[in-house]
Amino acid sequence: MPELISIIVPCYNEQESIPHFYKEITRISSEMKERFGLLFEYLFVDDGSHDKTLPVLRSLAAEDKRVRFLSFSRNFGKEAAIYAGLQNARGDYVAIMDADLQDPPSLLPEMYLEIAQNDYDCAATRRVTRKGEPPIRSFFARMFYKLINKISKTEIVDGARDFRLMTRQVVDSILSMPEYNRFSKGIFSWVGFRTKWLEYENVERVAGETKWSFWKLFTYSIDGIVAFSTFPLSIASFVGFLFFLIALVFIVIIVVKTLVWGDPVAGYPSTICLILLIGGIQLFCIGILGKYLSKTYMEVKGRPVYIIKEDEKSMEKQAAKRPQ
Ligand code: UDP
Ligand code: MG
Repeated sequence: MPELISIIVPCYNEQESIPHFYKEITRISSEMKERFGLLFEYLFVDDGSHDKTLPVLRSLAAEDKRVRFLSFSRNFGKEAAIYAGLQNARGDYVAIMDADLQDPPSLLPEMYLEIAQNDYDCAATRRVTRKGEPPIRSFFARMFYKLINKISKTEIVDGARDFRLMTRQVVDSILSMPEYNRFSKGIFSWVGFRTKWLEYENVERVAGETKWSFWKLFTYSIDGIVAFSTFPLSIASFVGFLFFLIALVFIVIIVVKTLVWGDPVAGYPSTICLILLIGGIQLFCIGILGKYLSKTYMEVKGRPVYIIKEDEKSMEKQAAKRPQ
């Protein structure tokens, strides 16, 4: 039996990119089919797009049997799209790729060889440059990787993309983590296995525009920290203990000062400053607790990660129902 590779492509408003992507991926697929005798399926996940992404996918699926698609009832986010793709992929190997050709399909043969010949379970990619990205965004991205790697036991590789090829075993391990708050970069690393890192230079989008605003990236990074580190929860204890020590020293100083010099009551401004400082720290720590609590709350509710409205099979059923 020839082996099957599933390519999962999360798409959100990608009507312009999909035809380019399809052209490129089919070219690489036929090359790999010839070289390695591999079969392909392309699983596009339409993440509640508002443009013509779904009609584009429908027509591709009608033309090419290798094209499958899932369409969400609304925008659930890229993480949900990846999860849906992994759950529905049938391949012996599974790859995840962006629709905008920022993940070069030309790397696929090399990735496959690493797994098939060099005994790796996973071939992942990382960008070594951030060319074409606003400098402020790169700066915060770097800070984020430094911070999360200090406070989390799970290694999060700087510049790692979601573009990777995995064996069925790795996919099944990832699927055994049914958490609601999904931070894939952490999950991929958490499951372990031997991973080969391939590096490449940043490529700009072929069409359309990025779906990530600075704010979206910022909240995503907070989600990542909350999902893979409990360190912030101990900040309150550290700061509390530190203040306790400082207070002890102050008490001694004030008692001695009053006994020796009989200092009259003074220092209204400094009292206000201290109240504000400690009040601020307390609220900050409660905020951190709140963040973890809200994540726990969402997790406990057990809501589905995504809802599928349509896929390529519903299209076939529709066609069968229509009067001839
Ligand atoms: N994407 C998605 N749902 C979203 C946002 C993005 O499925 O809510 C997809 C998008 O269509 C693309 C991939 O995730 O295929 C990466 O998005 P984008 O290119 O905007 O991110 P960037 O490459 O700028 O980090
Ligand atoms: Mg992109």
